[in-house]
Amino acid sequence: MAIEKTDVVIVGVGAVGGILAAELGKAGMKVIGLERGPRLTTADFNPHDELRYFQRQELRPNWRKQPVTWRPNTGVRAHPMNILNYGNQAGGGTVHYGTLSWRMHEDDFRARSQTIERYGASAIPQDSSLADWPVTYADLEPFYDQAEYDLGVSGKAGNLQGRKIDGGNVFEAPRNREYPLPALLMDQSGVLFAEGAKKLGYHPFSSPRAIISEPYHDRPSCTYCGFCQSFGCHVGAKSSILVTKLPEADATGNFKLLTGATCYHVNTDNSGRATGVSYYGPDGSDNTIEADLVILAPFIYDNTRLLLLSKTAKFPNGLANSSGQLGKHVMAHIMAKVFAAYDDRYVNVYMGPSAQKHTIDDFNADNFDHSGLGFLRGAQISIGPADLEAGPIGTAMSMDPPPGTPKWGAAYRDFLGKYFARYGALNAQTENLAYADQTIDLDPDVRDQWGMPAPRVTYDWRRPNEVARVEFLMQKMEGVARAMGATKVWRAALSPGVPGAHHEGGTRMGNDPKTSVVNRYGQTWDIPNLFLIGSSTFPSMSGFNPTLTIQALTYMSADAIVKRYKNKPGPLV
Ligand SMILES: Cc1cc2nc3c(=O)[nH]c(=O)nc-3n(C[C@H](O)[C@H](O)[C@H](O)COP(=O)(O)OP(=O)(O)OC[C@H]3O[C@@H](n4cnc5c(N)ncnc54)[C@H](O)[C@@H]3O)c2cc1C
Ligand code: SF4
Repeated sequence: MAIEKTDVVIVGVGAVGGILAAELGKAGMKVIGLERGPRLTTADFNPHDELRYFQRQELRPNWRKQPVTWRPNTGVRAHPMNILNYGNQAGGGTVHYGTLSWRMHEDDFRARSQTIERYGASAIPQDSSLADWPVTYADLEPFYDQAEYDLGVSGKAGNLQGRKIDGGNVFEAPRNREYPLPALLMDQSGVLFAEGAKKLGYHPFSSPRAIISEPYHDRPSCTYCGFCQSFGCHVGAKSSILVTKLPEADATGNFKLLTGATCYHVNTDNSGRATGVSYYGPDGSDNTIEADLVILAPFIYDNTRLLLLSKTAKFPNGLANSSGQLGKHVMAHIMAKVFAAYDDRYVNVYMGPSAQKHTIDDFNADNFDHSGLGFLRGAQISIGPADLEAGPIGTAMSMDPPPGTPKWGAAYRDFLGKYFARYGALNAQTENLAYADQTIDLDPDVRDQWGMPAPRVTYDWRRPNEVARVEFLMQKMEGVARAMGATKVWRAALSPGVPGAHHEGGTRMGNDPKTSVVNRYGQTWDIPNLFLIGSSTFPSMSGFNPTLTIQALTYMSADAIVKRYKNKPGPLV
């Protein structure tokens, strides 16, 4: 067994871990990053390989080796989910993600208070654990700015210091300055969507993306190749951690990346301090790192699983779980989808980055009056390919035919032949509420390649509030699709309860140690030298993709660690 000592150990070197590695390394802290996957390079994505990266999904965790199981309720056995939405290599999910890079709205950080003020407390479903964040938008604004400029995000402001700007998202919270890079070029589906949405009085705009529209920080701009989500970028135009923060971390001379290293335990001593972590090396070896500061950033499943696996006599219910909240309040986005197809024109949604989308924010958050609607919160509605998967095979596979057309045989062939290049899909990414009984725990039946119990998700999105919201949004999308002049408009089937994209929750942040696992910096209330950073700490989810918010929180935590914790280790709140 090898034992190594360091100032900081980070478990998982993805969207969060990469930023921490660079920021803490620059501050002179010795950092070791444990990453279970390999470190790839831009050359690994040239040429784009649909077999490896789309069919075999090599950039995602392998569900047979690293299973995460799901069941809709506690009465049934869980089974492995066959597609997992996070990373499995240095850079994590940012290597192959869609790049949508949103700031959350002001009211997303205070959804509970906002609801009570506008609709009364009785509007909140009785079983929901909807909560405010211990952070406001104003607290996070400088860190959103840092993330956008540091990493490289393209977009157009819609609210500059309170001044609303046509063509940007007029519903966005006030930003202090413009995006560092102009929005990407518009594609045909965006043109049609913008026209249709405007006819109905809505406010379309170009979605912000972590793709550079112009050369930036010695990286070339996007070539609009079309192989984006599920793939790495062949020129380095996607602002992934691989091409942004990892080189920066390397340059500090203080960062050491261990790949093929799977953490299986967080070690603590009798005083209740974290002393480091244990991990399996690529050769199966069992190793330990002793560290003054332990930061978990392996995404939500292992944030909860590692704490449960590391229980001791002092922490019998899992580390950092004196509140009993560990593993609770899990959330996920559900994608409601409407297709718009044309007999008389091409749309070519398979071209360009999958996230080269147009969006309306009119039905997101509390941007519209929910009185009498029977549900809370909303969704952003965007246009793009069916499932955002790039490349002809992926786009075709995820395109559901309209009712009456089978998904096989000659009729399906003829349908694809005619409509593959003549359709767009409107997606509503819904903000589902938190519920305490949506959980992650340890699966008693399924184990991973190392023999550890798999994380088990218990979740069913089909709650009355969520079902009513989806129906409302489907109708809005059908309205936009018709206003776009589509010949055929039809709904895609909804998922059977399974959590969709962007899983969040499990180690909720809050102001009160009795009702939350971590404080606003991701520092656990119970063990001040143990931090958990990522979307597992989100108290509510918003209708936006989470990564820019995850990254802004990470910059905020890094700032607090460097400016305060480093000199005076202890509780930051
Ligand atoms: C196909 C796809 C498209 C997406 N599109 C978008 C989008 O458009 N916009 C958006 O905002 N978000 C998107 N996301 C989500 C985004 O990727 C995640 O929100 C983000 O990567 C989460 O950051 P993280 O650091 O918490 O986790 P990751 O970035 O996943 O990093 C976690 C890392 O930890 C490693 N790890 C896990 N367990 C262990 C362990 N026990 N020991 C050692 N290492 C471990 C993993 O291998 C991984 O590299 C997408 C995700 C996918 C997969
Ligand atoms: S579409 Fe642009 S960012 Fe995406 S992989 Fe191609 S060149 Fe890279």
